[in-house]
Amino acid sequence: MKKVRTRFAPSPTGYMHIGNLRTALYEYLVAKKDDGDFILRIEDTDQNRLVEGSVDIIYNTLNQVGLHYDEGPDKPGNFGPYVQSERLPMYKKYADELIEKGGAHICFCDETVIQAQRDAAEKAGVPFKFQDPCHHLSKEEIETRKASEAYVVRQTILPGASTVFHDEVYGDIEVDREILDEQVLLKSDGFPTYNFANVIDDHQMEISHVVRGNEYLSSTPKYNLIYDSFGWEKPTYIHLPPVMKDEQHKLSKRNGDASFQDLVSKGYLAPAILNYIALLGWSPETNQEIYTLEELTKAFSVKRISKSPAIFDIEKLKWMNGMYLRAMSLDEFHATCLPYYKDSIKRVCDLKEVSKILQQRLTILSEIPEMVDFIDTLADYDVQMYYHPKMKTDNAVSILALEESLKVYETIQNWESVDELHQKLSETPARLGIKNGQFYWPIRTAVTGKQFTPGGALEIPYILGKEETIRRTLIGLDKLRQSVQ
Ligand SMILES: [Zn+2]
Repeated sequence: MKKVRTRFAPSPTGYMHIGNLRTALYEYLVAKKDDGDFILRIEDTDQNRLVEGSVDIIYNTLNQVGLHYDEGPDKPGNFGPYVQSERLPMYKKYADELIEKGGAHICFCDETVIQAQRDAAEKAGVPFKFQDPCHHLSKEEIETRKASEAYVVRQTILPGASTVFHDEVYGDIEVDREILDEQVLLKSDGFPTYNFANVIDDHQMEISHVVRGNEYLSSTPKYNLIYDSFGWEKPTYIHLPPVMKDEQHKLSKRNGDASFQDLVSKGYLAPAILNYIALLGWSPETNQEIYTLEELTKAFSVKRISKSPAIFDIEKLKWMNGMYLRAMSLDEFHATCLPYYKDSIKRVCDLKEVSKILQQRLTILSEIPEMVDFIDTLADYDVQMYYHPKMKTDNAVSILALEESLKVYETIQNWESVDELHQKLSETPARLGIKNGQFYWPIRTAVTGKQFTPGGALEIPYILGKEETIRRTLIGLDKLRQSVQ
């Protein structure tokens, strides 16, 4: 069997679209499942779209998610160069050969000729299809005009039987030649169009499986005609369903939808993002949802790629991100959170303990500042917060809880661990004849001033330290004593 070779061929646009990253992942999986090669090729022939530094974004993203390629611009192999703009002379040579073989021709038409035909079609109420007058030029005429006129190389598609091709996801697809337009292959500046370059490059690089979005399904017959003209073997096609933001709209950076970089800066973990997008359009045989890249490589199969559009569900990604955060070791989680603490916690305290309480609750890293803001400052809060129907806390019991907690705090000298606080506080409710909730709810409320916080009445006083805990408890007592329930 021929070696499986796939390629990821992004344009350097300055961001990594989620749909593109999913294409890269599936290309990687198709290759690695059969011990094949995964190749990175930069498609930079559209010089108008180039964005400075954007090739680095492609390298960094693939590196961050662990999609390591076997060949690429910065990883030379036997099929380079891997940047299209460095392959220009080659396209000219192949264009000449294709003209020779009858698969393309020289065209001198400028936009006015094309527009005139478009207008005429519109007037007549028929669908527009460009009829190239240059089909009928003689060899001599072409040579003479080439000396003084700009020209393009245009694909030649003669009328004939409809073309059929097979796609691994969408099945056999038949297309009437009549609807195939003769596209430009080489522009007047000598640059190839995507339509030409991708065919030449895929052949040259011995790409065995072409994986791409299904928006290319309709162009595939045209590419196949080029393969046929050259007499080349066609690759296996795997077209992917689109990633949608809702039932009507495709996920798109232009519509303000998040790119991979946006998600990372919002606090999503790269492996969680990769795991989530694996499930956008592919379904495993089991109910397993959390996968390492290695597990994905084993479980993946082209047969289980769906034809239907996949909807990007940010809530599901959030859930998955939380799963990844909780699966981390405490040390790893702590190291991941530290950069977020820098700006949001100025108080000198046991940050590792902060990580410990956060790990149970956190779903995305960017929630950290809001979740820990009470550590630095006790915001003013409503005394009603003490009165919790489920905890059965009223004014009297809240005052009792705080007074008793103060007595306990005073007895602790070193304030060195949660255990110490736990030991001493935990005897109190039984001694007072009240429920745990009636004791701990007021304590936690007094030290945080918030309805919801990570951690409870044992961890938070420990994190705040003795002095601050007592100060906040006194503020709470004051509020309670002035309040009439
Ligand atoms: Zn023409």
